[in-house]
Amino acid sequence: MVSMPRTKIIVTYGPSIADDRKLREILKQVDIIRLNFSHGALEEKLAAIRKIRKLSREIGREVAILADLPGPKIRVSRLEREIPIRKGQRVVLCYSKKARGSEVPTDFDMYKGMRKESEISIGDGEPKLLVTELSKGRIICKAMQDGAIGSRKGINVKGSSINAEPPTGEDMKFAKFAMENDLDFIALSFVKSAKDIARIRKVVDGMGVISKIERQEAIDGIEGIAEASDGIMIARGDMALNIDYSKVPLMQDRIIRVCRSAKKPVIVATQMLESMLNNRTPTRAEMTDVANAVKSGVDCVMLSGETAIGNHPVEAVTALSNILSYTEQEMPSNFTPQKSASSGHEGIAAAAAGISHTCDMDIIFVPTHSGTTVRMLSGMRPDSTVVALSSSDKVRRSLGLYYGVVGVRVGKHDGSGESVDSEAKIYARRMNAKNYMLIYGHQANGSTSDSIKCFWGKSHRKRLRFF
Ligand code: PGA
Ligand code: MN
Repeated sequence: MVSMPRTKIIVTYGPSIADDRKLREILKQVDIIRLNFSHGALEEKLAAIRKIRKLSREIGREVAILADLPGPKIRVSRLEREIPIRKGQRVVLCYSKKARGSEVPTDFDMYKGMRKESEISIGDGEPKLLVTELSKGRIICKAMQDGAIGSRKGINVKGSSINAEPPTGEDMKFAKFAMENDLDFIALSFVKSAKDIARIRKVVDGMGVISKIERQEAIDGIEGIAEASDGIMIARGDMALNIDYSKVPLMQDRIIRVCRSAKKPVIVATQMLESMLNNRTPTRAEMTDVANAVKSGVDCVMLSGETAIGNHPVEAVTALSNILSYTEQEMPSNFTPQKSASSGHEGIAAAAAGISHTCDMDIIFVPTHSGTTVRMLSGMRPDSTVVALSSSDKVRRSLGLYYGVVGVRVGKHDGSGESVDSEAKIYARRMNAKNYMLIYGHQANGSTSDSIKCFWGKSHRKRLRFF
C-alpha cells in the first residue's frame, strides 16, 4: 500500500530548505509548502514559488502552496538594536513608527483599548510586561522577567481584542498576489469572526481559505468560523499568548471536535518538533504531541521554524512522517458513519465509506472534476485511502489538505465507469491494493457520482463465496 502517512504534512519555506537538493527531499515527503508573508519581500516569494513548482514537477509530486497572511499582528517598530530588559524595570510603550529614546515604539496604537493590569508579551512570550499605568498615550508597564525587546517582534495582549480584525490592507495585497500566482490556499491570521472570511473571499476566488485560531473570540465563535472556512489552523503559538496557556491543550481538542463534526480539515500547528531546530531527534514530549494529533483525527500537522530556519529540516520531516505512519497503522479506526446525507453525492460517498469499512477495502477510487465527493469522503475518515483521479493540477493540489486522500493525474475523463476502470486497475496494482472500489457516474458524460463498483482480490473472493 501507499507508504506516505495519511495525515497530511505542511512545512514552512525558509533559508534552511532553499537549496535545490534539500527542497527536493522535502517535496518528496510533504503535501503543502507554507510561505510566511510576515517575513521577506514579494520578490523572494516569487522566486520560492517558481522553484517549488519547478522541482515538484521534476519529482512528479503535486505539492500545494499556502500563503500565510500576517493579519493585524501588532509589532514593535523597527529598532536599531535590541532593548535589554531587567525584571522589575519600568517599560514604556508608545505608538510610533520609529524608535523614541528609551520608549518602546509599537506600530499600532494600543492605548485606547488597553486596560490596567493587562499582561503584554513580546516575541514568543518573553519578556512579559504588566500594565501599571496609562498616561497621555503611553502604556507604562513593569517587566515581569528579564529578556530583550527586539525589532519587529510580535506583541500580544492576553485576553484582549485590542488588534483589529483581518484582513488588513496588507493582507488584501498579499491575497491578490497569491491569486495572480495561482497559489492554492491562503491562511488568515487572528480571525475574529466569520465576517472576516467573507471579506477575504471577495479577492480570492478559487483558493481555499484557512482560518487561524489564535485569539479568544475565535475560540468562542469556532462553529461559525469553521462553517465559513475551507480549513482551520490551530495556531498554538499566538494562542498560548492570547489565552491562559494552561488552556491550550483542551482548546485544541475542542477545535478538533468542532472541525471533525463540521467535516472541515483541521491543522495542528506550531512547535510540534521545536527542539529539532537544533537536535536530530525530537523530545519524548514532541513525539507524543504528534501521535496525539493523529489519535484525535486531525487532517494535517505543520512545521514552522523547524523547516524554515532549523538546522535539521529534512530530519524533522522524516521524524514527523515516521511517527504519523506508525501511529496511524496501530491506531483504531476513526471511521465516522453518516447518519444522514443532504445530497445524492453525499449518500454515495457515505455508502462507499461504509462498504470500505465492512469489506476491508484498500482504496476508494473517485474520478473527480471539482473534488467535492473526495472532500466529503475524507471527512468520514474511511479506513481505505481515497485516490482522486483528476486531470486538473489545481484540483489535485487542493486535496493536499485532506486526510487520507491521494491525487492521481489522469487524462480528461467524463466520470463514467468504463473510462476510469482501467486507470483504477493500473493504480491499484501499482499501489499493491487487493480490494478496491470505484465511485463513478454510470451514465456516460454524467458528472454525478451515482454508482459504486467493488473489485476483489483473489483471496477475498474465496472467502466471499455464498452459494
Ligand atoms: P504564525 O502562526 O507562525 O504565523 O504566528 C502560527 C501560530 O501563531 O501558532
Ligand atoms: Mn500566529
